[in-house]
Amino acid sequence: MANRRPFVAGNWKMNTTEREAASLAREVAALTAGAPCDVAICVPFPHLATVREALAGSHVLAGAQDVFWETSGAYTGEVSATMLADYCEVVIIGHSERRQLFCESDGWVNRKLKAVLAAPLRPIVCVGETIEQRRAGETESVLARQLRGALAGVDITDRITIAYEPVWAIGTGENATPDVAQAACAFIRSIIGELAGDVAGRIRIQYGGSMNAGNAAELLAQPDIDGGLVGGASLKADQFAAIVAAAGA
Ligand code: PEP
Repeated sequence: MANRRPFVAGNWKMNTTEREAASLAREVAALTAGAPCDVAICVPFPHLATVREALAGSHVLAGAQDVFWETSGAYTGEVSATMLADYCEVVIIGHSERRQLFCESDGWVNRKLKAVLAAPLRPIVCVGETIEQRRAGETESVLARQLRGALAGVDITDRITIAYEPVWAIGTGENATPDVAQAACAFIRSIIGELAGDVAGRIRIQYGGSMNAGNAAELLAQPDIDGGLVGGASLKADQFAAIVAAAGA
């Protein structure tokens, strides 16, 4: 993990009532207190204010799961980065569920990333191949295309986190092996090196895809994996806290 401070973020997706969100946020804050790593929970938009209040005084950062690139205007249903900046510090961009279900392109991810950096917020940019792409030997070309697309014209800094999330591992209970995840994360770092030189050594790269308390330590021990983006297991405070503990170990 070099000298990079680990970063573990939870992605609650479209889960929790407001009451559940407040109580889960408080539990996460209590169970991860003192962890030597950055921790964030990315929650549904309507719960951001509640979660922010529940996290007051804790080291856990609040985050959102998506954003729109315009600042304001006639964009029904959308939320801007400047709006989010009043409620949270972190924003997930380009999650595979958004790419697949809502047809988000690399160009959209790029515009969102620029808006998030300007806000200024801390983006987590998701990239990852489908099982068909992996079987066709296209993993590296897909990752390179997604990264080059997302980062085009961006002043690349270590405020950006990249999440390597193989689509076939998300929500399936079938995580990438540590070797497979490490190879992809090392490749991602090499592309960032081509685009931004030394920054590549400082940018954090998370692994995401069925990470849980049982497999986290081995994944997080890989030299190019600097933390996790955690879906299902982030909805259970004790599981999430165990992953955070493994990242800080
Ligand atoms: C995710 O949604 O980013 C994710 C990694 O989900 P899960 O941990 O449930 O596979």
